[in-house]
Amino acid sequence: MGTTCYWYKACPNCDGQGRLFIFENQVTGHLYFHCEECEWGFHKPEDCHNSADGFLTLNVEFDSAIPTIERIRELGWEQYAVHSCEK
Ligand SMILES: [Zn+2]
Repeated sequence: MGTTCYWYKACPNCDGQGRLFIFENQVTGHLYFHCEECEWGFHKPEDCHNSADGFLTLNVEFDSAIPTIERIRELGWEQYAVHSCEK
């Protein structure tokens, strides 16, 4: 059994090679986007169009988790869970 992961759009930082997956910061309880390819992260959906608005996730240390769709809904990000896949 895999885990269902949700992603929003292609990453602007690596020219769409990676997808922006929704992750949860377990320290703050906030959702953010994380590119699978270049490890770039974005705090807000409106930041996801410009790589300059993102941050390198490797430079920040916190525990993160893959949120369930219920959790994503609870936090109001359902509209950004556009695609899903099994990991
Ligand atoms: Zn990327």
